[in-house]
Amino acid sequence: MKKLVLLLIFLFSIVITAQDYKKDFENLVSSETKSAQKKIMGTKNMNTGNYDVKYHRLDLQVDPNVAFIEGDITSYFVAKENLDEVTFELSDNMVVSEVLQRGNPLTFIQNTDDEIVITLPVTQNSGVLDSLTISYSGNPISSGFGSFEQSTHNGDPIIWTLSEPFGAKGWWPCKQDLNDKIDEIDVYVTTPQFNPSGEEYFLASNGLEQSQVVNGANKTTHFNHQYAIPAYLIAIAVTNYEIYSHTVDNNGNPFDVVNYVYLEDLSYAQANTPVTVDLINLYADLFEEYPYSNEKYGHAEFGWGGGMEHTTVSFMGGFSRGLIAHELAHQWFGDKITCGSWQDIWLNEGFATYLTGLSNKYLDGEASFKSWRIDKISSATSQTSGSVYVPAQDTTNVGRVFSSRLSYNKPSMVLHMLSRQLGEATFFQGVQEYLADPNFAYGYAKTPDFQAKMEAVSGEDLSEFFNDWIYGQGYPSYTIEWNRINTSEIQIVVNQTQSHNSVSFLKHQFL
Ligand SMILES: [Zn+2]
Repeated sequence: MKKLVLLLIFLFSIVITAQDYKKDFENLVSSETKSAQKKIMGTKNMNTGNYDVKYHRLDLQVDPNVAFIEGDITSYFVAKENLDEVTFELSDNMVVSEVLQRGNPLTFIQNTDDEIVITLPVTQNSGVLDSLTISYSGNPISSGFGSFEQSTHNGDPIIWTLSEPFGAKGWWPCKQDLNDKIDEIDVYVTTPQFNPSGEEYFLASNGLEQSQVVNGANKTTHFNHQYAIPAYLIAIAVTNYEIYSHTVDNNGNPFDVVNYVYLEDLSYAQANTPVTVDLINLYADLFEEYPYSNEKYGHAEFGWGGGMEHTTVSFMGGFSRGLIAHELAHQWFGDKITCGSWQDIWLNEGFATYLTGLSNKYLDGEASFKSWRIDKISSATSQTSGSVYVPAQDTTNVGRVFSSRLSYNKPSMVLHMLSRQLGEATFFQGVQEYLADPNFAYGYAKTPDFQAKMEAVSGEDLSEFFNDWIYGQGYPSYTIEWNRINTSEIQIVVNQTQSHNSVSFLKHQFL
């Protein structure tokens, strides 16, 4: 009884301190749900499956004060079969003015399936690399959380994008395919140099800034990114940012954390972002070096609550440590290795959530980690059914795929249980080998891939564990009875009840 009373007091004190983080966490889930909405509603375009994209050069013109974009997109692609025409995706409200190949105009049509179908002048044989440039313009459709947002902060104009697999076509002609990562991109964005108040505009994008070139009243900023990236993680944001950096030593191979923040939030951001360096060092110690260390990490402030883990530059609605830890974790889990399907979303979100818990453990200590776990357990056990693995029929149900209970909180605790089952040393070794595996690194992985890796490293059969906790539903409850048999013996009986009949007995429990 004493233990129980202590636990109740402990729980009560956590409820008070956890309020800020909970609000932040709800925003985060809601933001990631919004960003995924179009991904899930959309379908893969089979007409773009006959080529591999190798490279894009995005040459864009925007004015943060105007909801409009125009650009020239140069794409290099290898034919997977003999091609007489090639299809890119672009919303049909955007107007293509010209398609050029080696300076020659090509014939094309735009259709209501959001496609540009381009006729090639000669057959591009299978295995051959070629390129072309599409020139286009328009006002991208916004649905309130669209892939291209023009807005204001404190009265100053801003444009940001959310390049989702099936929303990227809203603002640039591309191939939206999770399984065809692009090897390299160059992003050039031309804007007015100054906003209407005379403050300078700055661009945030993926990879490393190469140059800013002023031409009259305009400025062109160039970013280059040399890691494999899917179309949905390419992003731009432009406003009158204040920019400051932290340096990560990275064992003598330093890189910067570049923060693009609103002037009105500068002191708040400066007080909160330095911990990013500690978190990068922590994740590097626990797992492996930051996956994009030849370039940078960064934060760009934008207009939603929560965040979005664009590669090398997370877009942030605020700078709480929990949000910083979560979006940073996605650079390893989500960006370097992307979940192979929506059924496997826990491989992105469960890990990002667990790493936030680990950051509490290593930066604040065991008591903080325990509070965090109690919070996650309370979410995981708040309903009796539902599996971490998303059932096939639910992959178009955004609320289910991005369920904070089943895709974030419960799998974060399942990962913790797995680390206790295998022992921390084996658990971290397994995850390290998973991250380094060339079959998954800078590509994709599914649940059986992760299970097989952890089994190979530990030598244990984990099918019961995964069946109980990833594919099965519910959680165990216990009743404990004791009888004094005589003065020296006590009989204790522990009974387990399962919250859901999909699992007959759960060998492990949340701890
Ligand atoms: Zn996330």
